[in-house]
Amino acid sequence: MKITIHRGQHQIGGSIIEISTNHTRLIFDVGINLNEETDIEMPYIEGLFSNGKKYDAVFISHYHSDHMGLLSHIKRGTPIYMGKTAFKIIEASSAYRNIPVNVSPTFYNDSTPITIGDMKIVPYRCDHSAYDSYMFLVEANGKKVLYTGDYRANGRQSFEALLEKLPEVDVLITEGTTLSRESNIKNIKEDLLEDIAIKELNRHSGPAFIMMSAMNIDRLKTAYNAAKATNRLFLEDLYTAGIASSIPEVNPANLENTRVFITDGNQKHYGKLNEYGRLKIGKYEISKQKYLMCVRQSMKSYLKKLNELQSFEDGILFYGMWKGYQEDKDMKSFLEFIQNLGVKIHTLHTSGHADTETVEKLIADVKPKVIMPVHTENEQWFDNYKNEINVVYQNNCIDL
Ligand SMILES: [Zn+2]
Repeated sequence: MKITIHRGQHQIGGSIIEISTNHTRLIFDVGINLNEETDIEMPYIEGLFSNGKKYDAVFISHYHSDHMGLLSHIKRGTPIYMGKTAFKIIEASSAYRNIPVNVSPTFYNDSTPITIGDMKIVPYRCDHSAYDSYMFLVEANGKKVLYTGDYRANGRQSFEALLEKLPEVDVLITEGTTLSRESNIKNIKEDLLEDIAIKELNRHSGPAFIMMSAMNIDRLKTAYNAAKATNRLFLEDLYTAGIASSIPEVNPANLENTRVFITDGNQKHYGKLNEYGRLKIGKYEISKQKYLMCVRQSMKSYLKKLNELQSFEDGILFYGMWKGYQEDKDMKSFLEFIQNLGVKIHTLHTSGHADTETVEKLIADVKPKVIMPVHTENEQWFDNYKNEINVVYQNNCIDL
């Protein structure tokens, strides 16, 4: 077997990994570089996007763009594999934004092996800030490789149960997003965010908002549970509701105390809102309720109008995203805008990526002979293991 990290070895994002034998060539993830939504840098990989012999398959670990942003550029006819719910979420997000989804993937299932040529691939569901995320165990010629994708142990899925399923491997290709040069990072649990939110909601009599990625289903659940516990209506905008409808646990149709609203007069959006029937709610009715509302930067003018109907004094906005995004111009301007209306900002976030202890636990569990760090800016952290394990980051390619 041969492993080649085409991209994403010494950086966070842009992941493209090849694992091949003499007969079969597979790609794991086709990410774009972070902060490259418009001017995309296409790496040259023969046969993947352009000229040359097609790959036998491309496996996508999860729907974050730094892992699958180049999906639509893959050479036509190349089989693509991903999780079924992950794909539904991609479809919902693309439909709202009028972006065509021009791929029709084959769906894999948790712990169910797939054979392609002389290689066996077993996807293992893991917890991450993207719903329906997977690690991949790849077996060929008597060797085992585990590629982690992105993972964490502080979500609602049991990390211990995942470790029980994973075998010992020859090579571990692991993410190291949070590994810091200065100190050990310890993530707080997603469940704890619920308690924090409930406490804060009880301290504020005004309206409550949450700024988060609609695709972070775990956070959506956290927000919903906190709203329910404090008798607030949970308000999902049309985009969030479209995504949430793919997942039974957060589907607004299955939840009490949830309503769907639109923020513009777009005819198509209005038609879509009508499909929610009794769940839809308008501004005037919202202004008379106690609620927790999902918001995005683009909602400034909507919130201005809502504020004409209702004071935002003693309101709270939960900031449920990575703090780095606060440097973004539009985000900065939104947060200033909402603060000027009397709303306090409270961070409600925990990482979607493995903390130090989680990476250590995985290594202790799968006992690799070789570690290839990816998705990290601190690959030297793995030198802690260099006396027992061959740590490879000087080369992007190994044969085994
Ligand atoms: Zn991710």
